[in-house]
Amino acid sequence: MSGKDRDLAMVVMKFGGSSVRDVEAVRRVIGIVGREKEARLVVVSALGGVTDGLLDIADLVEGGKGEEAREAVRALRRRHEDMAALVGSAEEKAVLLADLDGRFDELEAIVHALSVVEEISPRSRDTIVSFGEITSSRIVAAALSDSGIPSRSIDPRIVLVTDSQHGAAQPDVEATDERLRREVAPLLKEGVVPVLGGFIGANPAGLTTTLGRGGSDFSAALFGAGLGAEEIQIWTDVDGMLTADPRMIPATRVVPQLSFSEASELAYFGARVLHPSTILPAVRRDIPVRILNSHRPEAPGTRITRDPANGKKGPAAIACKRGLTRLDVTSTRMLMAYGFLRRVFEVFERYRTPVDVVTTSEVSVSVTIDDRRAHDSIVADLSEFAEVVSEHGMAIVCAVGDGLRRDPRLAAQMLGALEGLPLVMVSQGGSRQNITVVVREDAAAVAMERLHRHFFEDDDASAGTASAATA
Ligand code: ADP
Ligand code: ASP
Ligand code: MG
Repeated sequence: MSGKDRDLAMVVMKFGGSSVRDVEAVRRVIGIVGREKEARLVVVSALGGVTDGLLDIADLVEGGKGEEAREAVRALRRRHEDMAALVGSAEEKAVLLADLDGRFDELEAIVHALSVVEEISPRSRDTIVSFGEITSSRIVAAALSDSGIPSRSIDPRIVLVTDSQHGAAQPDVEATDERLRREVAPLLKEGVVPVLGGFIGANPAGLTTTLGRGGSDFSAALFGAGLGAEEIQIWTDVDGMLTADPRMIPATRVVPQLSFSEASELAYFGARVLHPSTILPAVRRDIPVRILNSHRPEAPGTRITRDPANGKKGPAAIACKRGLTRLDVTSTRMLMAYGFLRRVFEVFERYRTPVDVVTTSEVSVSVTIDDRRAHDSIVADLSEFAEVVSEHGMAIVCAVGDGLRRDPRLAAQMLGALEGLPLVMVSQGGSRQNITVVVREDAAAVAMERLHRHFFEDDDASAGTASAATA
């Protein structure tokens, strides 16, 4: 079904942590939501920095620093209570404050109980961290209602059904769609704006789970797909998907349009502005995703669609992902017997460890992994039939763009721009929409600078990308 032929025209508007950081930021959100003409569902992250704060609290508890943990909870309580300034009506303010009070009492009780045993399981970590989105969604819903936009906060744990992998839960899309129809759609039809915390859900037993850091984008996309939204808007603190991570490259530009697959690859390879899983639900129902700046709502942002037909020549953007480990796996037989690759990849599957980049030669295969939790077991299992060399501190630097498929010279240009830098691995995907090199982490910044200069700061190569300032 296309985004157009649905009974209720609605959009999903997701606001990240920096977009709801303080009173002023939430006031901007109210303005943005108020200007939207369609029915809308609002998804919010925890107030900026609160998720980190809650994770620190869990660490303090684990480290036996219960009193410091409780003091940190009190500081968070004060910060959230200050947000009640958004609500003018004395009666509604009292309701909000009582609600926040109850939540923080509960959090303090949990932290106190866990401090006694000084032990934090992935399950209790998820419970602690969920308070960020639960409380921010209450605040934003109250502020919207107070400004005359009828809205109601809905606990995402009654909507987003996941498996039980705490910290990296996977959604049950069918069950979630059914809950969306039951719990959320009726409100939209009544003209009420539902406000849901992103990032958190619950397993079928009702235990709190989280989708992984940055997961609110994913929640927004799941909700948008389930409800057949016209558009999924990701409101953040930059003007859209930029040609590179602005923390690495000062002279970035906005990429006005991207295809679903370009955006997925960029997100996967380090463009933090989008959680890597965001695009999947959008693809399922062919819903455009837009990345917009809540600090500059007038900026056009980036529009991500199935087939943007922008005919751009060079790559759309470059990205970088650090902290990777490279494993060189060499068959102990002289020549690569068939079955070798299967055995290698079975090991990664056994430990549920995704592989990012793969290169092969006759007798060896090199891979990079991001998730090191099962590293030692993986090396031990591979060593049963291969020699394994493992090296940490690797980075992927990649150029992504449908244009790479059209112009084979770009791969050579990319390698030319990186001349003299030791490349540990080089790979061009089967889709040929991305060219990836692996370098040591200390060479990543230089590699990114050189590629950005070549593809986006030199006028001929960068034709087709619009220039715009970031926030
Ligand atoms: P939010 O809190 O809104 O979810 P995030 O911090 O998760 O925001 O993502 C936005 C940030 O992503 C930007 O501030 C920017 O520093 C970073 N970022 C990394 N790569 C890119 C990129 N290619 N384009 C835009 N932003 C990027
Ligand atoms: N609050 C969560 C985080 O900081 C989820 C999100 O913001 O997307 O990771
Ligand atoms: Mg984010």
